[in-house]
Amino acid sequence: MPRYSTRIDEMNQKEKAQLEERLLKFQGGICFLCEHEIKLEADETEIDHIVPIADGGPDEEGNWALLHSSCNSKKRAKNLNLAKVLMRWDSLREKGVVPLLVEIQDVSP
Ligand SMILES: [Zn+2]
Repeated sequence: MPRYSTRIDEMNQKEKAQLEERLLKFQGGICFLCEHEIKLEADETEIDHIVPIADGGPDEEGNWALLHSSCNSKKRAKNLNLAKVLMRWDSLREKGVVPLLVEIQDVSP
């Protein structure tokens, strides 16, 4: 998987810090993926494209999301919208709220 260079790479530290604050505010203070709080001063974070550039996503702020680095590394899809749904699903399954997929498939004709 080639690593695309993006406009974020060209930002200096101050610009990047301001961008992180804007994204976090826009996201209501939570990680785009796990939807838990992000503390910029304490947490390791990354900015990633919601729709990957490889899939035609634009390299602009509307397509950027702030995530915990740990969430970004364990995401199960490159598209962050899909990765978020999968993460929610995993979390519900861990809590036993959602039955295993195989049980759902069993009831279909
Ligand atoms: Zn997270």
